[in-house]
Amino acid sequence: MARSIGGVKYCPRCGSILYPRVRDGRKELFCRRCGYTEPLDGGEAEVYKIRSRVRHTPKERMIIVDSSQVPPTASLLKGQITCPKCGHDEIYYWMMQTRAADEPPTRFYRCKRCGYTWREYA
Ligand SMILES: [Zn+2]
Ligand SMILES: [Zn+2]
Repeated sequence: MARSIGGVKYCPRCGSILYPRVRDGRKELFCRRCGYTEPLDGGEAEVYKIRSRVRHTPKERMIIVDSSQVPPTASLLKGQITCPKCGHDEIYYWMMQTRAADEPPTRFYRCKRCGYTWREYA
């Protein structure tokens, strides 16, 4: 095993500083001088951990639903959904990407009779 001095590891073969790297999805310590490698996992590996913070800040980018317009991609549902306002069962349905691209699109519904429009997050 490599010697560890002050959090820095040195090659047991040649004494050079070992550098962390990822190979085939596994973390290891690597000596640039002699090619010595040592698997790196847990514990002290924290020192070398690449800090890639995955930020989840869901930007609730609300879009204004233009109730006067139904996109041409909308399909008309009959007898499947009823309007929460008037109870009519002919509802236009379409999907729109309103949030981050990696999130499911928002479903929109619009009553054919009264024009009431509502959304539903998938
Ligand atoms: Zn070495
Ligand atoms: Zn309605």
